Amino acid sequence: MTTVHVPGVPVVADGELISTNPATGDEAGRLPVASAADVARAVERARTASAWWIGLGDAGRRERLLRFRAVLANRITELAEVVNAEGGKPVAEAVVEIVSAIEHLDWATRNARRVLGPRQLRSRLILAEFAAHLEYQPYGVVGVIGPWNYPVLTPLGSIGYALAAGNTVVFKPSEYTPVAGQWYVDAFAEVVPEHPVLQAVHGLGDVGAALCRAGVDKVAFTGSTATARKVMAACAETLTPVLLESGGKDAMIVDTDADLDAAAEAAVWGGMTNAGQTCIGIERIYAVAPVYDAFVAKVVERAGRLTVGAAGDADLGPITMPAQIDIIRRHIDDALARGGRAVLGGPDAVQPPYVRPTILVDVPEDSAAVREETFGPTLTIKKVRDANEALTLANALPYGLGGSVFGQRRAIPIARRLRSGMAAINSTITFVGMSTLPFGGVGDSGFGRIHGDDGLREFARSKAITRRRGPSVLPAMTFDRTPAQIARIVKLVKTLYGRS
Ligand code: NDP
Repeated sequence: MTTVHVPGVPVVADGELISTNPATGDEAGRLPVASAADVARAVERARTASAWWIGLGDAGRRERLLRFRAVLANRITELAEVVNAEGGKPVAEAVVEIVSAIEHLDWATRNARRVLGPRQLRSRLILAEFAAHLEYQPYGVVGVIGPWNYPVLTPLGSIGYALAAGNTVVFKPSEYTPVAGQWYVDAFAEVVPEHPVLQAVHGLGDVGAALCRAGVDKVAFTGSTATARKVMAACAETLTPVLLESGGKDAMIVDTDADLDAAAEAAVWGGMTNAGQTCIGIERIYAVAPVYDAFVAKVVERAGRLTVGAAGDADLGPITMPAQIDIIRRHIDDALARGGRAVLGGPDAVQPPYVRPTILVDVPEDSAAVREETFGPTLTIKKVRDANEALTLANALPYGLGGSVFGQRRAIPIARRLRSGMAAINSTITFVGMSTLPFGGVGDSGFGRIHGDDGLREFARSKAITRRRGPSVLPAMTFDRTPAQIARIVKLVKTLYGRS
């Protein structure tokens, strides 16, 4: 038996990746590490399976994907316990995560034909003798690289949409959560035993890098911005298209007419859910001066009530990736050293493998706690003059993933002006569970979209076809045209487009 030195830190021994719980060090499972050749073979198998998966047609895929959805729904508690055993996430949080994943799988499956299926488009007067036909065809084999913080929802957000669009998938779960990833790959194989339509390859970052270079037709990556850059560079070698869902530093804006109790409740949930290890978690809050003091008091009161520990029903579990604790500690220490104050928690809140809720105020805007992804249960709250100042500060970072606005009269215009891919009004994070809405960032938070119609199209290529339906009255795209016809075309263009 291999000795595991640091609970939660994955170990590779004898060709296996051993995953452990960050609080207890208990082994959650072990999986074979893939070599670059193994990854290439998985992609080859996926390529063969692709012909079968495409050949099933929408109806055949739909029937199988709905069966997969049913397995996830019926065994939701079992999967939530796997997520808890491996990453330490409280079971209730894991259940909420899996519910969202199931909803997305259901929606993608039921809407694939509507969004991607063949359709006739209207012809215009120019080229009126041709019919316009559009359809979306699958890429073939999609490589999905996932993070550890939402090991079910995040990878399945790509996998489910990619499969529904007719692709096969080779999936590299995070080294911190391979067991959860393998669980649903195995569950999928139970309902689709015929071909390896969904496979997992395990290991460290080099396995993800190998997947980028293994001949996949598209890579869907979710993880940090630093790794996103490496993935894009690797994919550039072969012009493999990429979808990048990367980090964030989401802000909440609290306006004068906000319901402060609701705002405080959402701030604490948005900042502390999954112990703050959420790409779209709230990390910074800008509250306008008239409501600032009352709002801070309500946040502190609520956050102070949260329970922390290993028990599956604690509000906050351990920090899943032990190295993150040093980053959280550095952000808190730096904020305090530079004039900030902890009105809840502080340096003593960092008690590995846990971090207790910490609320920081008066933190300079150029400090790490405001500018960098903290990924812990910490919030900075800053007093601002008005919503305009809040927007300027919220939009000052290279990240642009989600965001939240609390208020009434100006809430929608403020949400529109947030430089982000998503925004929630009078709630936080809720857009991720809305399967009809696209999800993705701007700037350092990446590009491309999962979820919704855009999320299905992300995993398919448009195929445009024109079909002649009659002779050309004014032939243009042929050497058979005559000077007289060109003269008539010029006259027609002036008539159609010559006036503004
Ligand atoms: P990482 O970037 O460290 O890892 C993400 C994945 O990439 C892992 O599977 C990792 O493997 C793999 N990987 C590492 N190196 C390479 C490489 N050179 N080439 C290809 N793949 C590689 O992110 P984390 O797992 O730490 O996840 C947390 C981050 O994810 C945060 O920044 C968070 O904001 C972001 N995130 C973004 C979301 C979004 O939708 N925008 C959603 C959820 C999280 P291994 O684990 O083995 O190193």
